[in-house]
Amino acid sequence: MDKLSVLAARQPAAIGRRATLQGWIRTRRDSKGGFSFLELNDGSCLANIQVIADAKLANYESEVKHLSPGCSVTVRGDVKPSGGKEQATEVHAAEILVHGWADPESYPLQKKRHSLEKLREWAHLRPRTNTMGAVMRVRNRICRSIHDFFQEEGFLYVHTPIITASDCEGAGAMFRVTTLDPAAPARTPAGAVDFAQDFFGKPAYLTVSGQLEGEIYATALGKIYTFGPTFRAENSNTSRHLAEFWMVEPEAAFFDLEDDMALAERFLKRIVGDVLRDCPEDMQFFQERIDDTVLDALRSVAERDFQRLSYTEAIDILAASGEKFEFPVQWGADLQAEHERYLTEKKFNAPVILYDYPRAIKAFYMRLNDDRRTVRAMDVLVPRVGEIIGGSQREERLDILLERMHEQGLNPDDYWWYLDLRRYGTVPHAGFGLGLERMVQFVTGMANIRDVIPFPRTPGSAEF
Ligand code: ATP
Ligand code: MN
Repeated sequence: MDKLSVLAARQPAAIGRRATLQGWIRTRRDSKGGFSFLELNDGSCLANIQVIADAKLANYESEVKHLSPGCSVTVRGDVKPSGGKEQATEVHAAEILVHGWADPESYPLQKKRHSLEKLREWAHLRPRTNTMGAVMRVRNRICRSIHDFFQEEGFLYVHTPIITASDCEGAGAMFRVTTLDPAAPARTPAGAVDFAQDFFGKPAYLTVSGQLEGEIYATALGKIYTFGPTFRAENSNTSRHLAEFWMVEPEAAFFDLEDDMALAERFLKRIVGDVLRDCPEDMQFFQERIDDTVLDALRSVAERDFQRLSYTEAIDILAASGEKFEFPVQWGADLQAEHERYLTEKKFNAPVILYDYPRAIKAFYMRLNDDRRTVRAMDVLVPRVGEIIGGSQREERLDILLERMHEQGLNPDDYWWYLDLRRYGTVPHAGFGLGLERMVQFVTGMANIRDVIPFPRTPGSAEF
């Protein structure tokens, strides 16, 4: 059997081939001349292929004339030039085998258009829609670019753990992993839950970031990246936060913040360039149906230098902007989404890299500047989405790292292995984290992060 994807069958090169196509019916239209037009989709591309089903087919009256959206079929036929202007080719069916019916009375995707909110209730069916199909193909292309980019730059793919026993990054936002019985957990003599009797002999959590473990491998192997799921129990019901999301985290020895920012810029440009080149049909769909600014935004990322400015310069710009912000602009305070949007959308209309943030609002591991007021942190902000990357040069000096841990109320004993990296052969190093779903949002123009991941996990919601 000469199996052909819809994508391949739509190419003029396929003309003249006898082929087998398999997929799901999108529409059926019967012509008066005694044949039917079927639109077949198999997920290989946004477009359908038109199948001409002649009344002479053995099962024309009994089956073909009853096909409806969602039915699954195998079509054997000849690829021929199409008379229509929408497509170069069409398939003249010699045989149509029906695998599964989809009762038009109850099949939810029978109706042409549903809201994205409604489609979230059908996470098992929404991949059959044009929008989710396009999102998933672009998401896949981005993932491939992520690996291609780092592999070509000489980074080693390292798998950092998903379950972690270091309650490093603020346990409040972490999901606990336990096999203790919640109704009757083991207890200490004093009555507290006794995690010594838990599976790992101590409290364990789902990771919020692979960075600290990534540093272990970077300070041995040079340049590494991790790419995997991360989990945050923050109760923020926004269009940019998930409880489970995928993060790419490169970490490189002998990198300073300049190297880190340059890497981030090359990385984003590479992803955007690949998508523009390889997903033109899906991107045209997003431009026409989702957000008519998305192609311009991507081209400007691909072509223009990112705007770099220090946190202090950003505060000055915001203070002088004359804008009415809900949150006051004040040196020392974290930037809010409205401030980020002003910078990327109104002021520069381009990605912005902010660096050198006040030490008090950034993590203990970010390298202290000589001014002792700021740390070598950087955030990459993009229009619409805001923060897409957070990174820093790491503090490689043991004494200053200890000072920063004390300042933030952290117990150095909990980080003995992290501190060892500074005791033995310490090196300057830097890295960042890109949230995959934020990147897919930016590239596709999708407004809500729940619509760029197959199965979104958010507070109160994990049905599928
Ligand atoms: P934000 O301030 O937007 O909540 P953050 O500063 O907590 O993000 P980092 O810890 O710097 O985020 O994580 C690195 C990247 O991971 C972010 O730049 C973002 O792209 C992504 N990210 C962080 N939290 C989430 C989340 N809850 N859902 C999806 N992506 C996230
Ligand atoms: Mn951040």
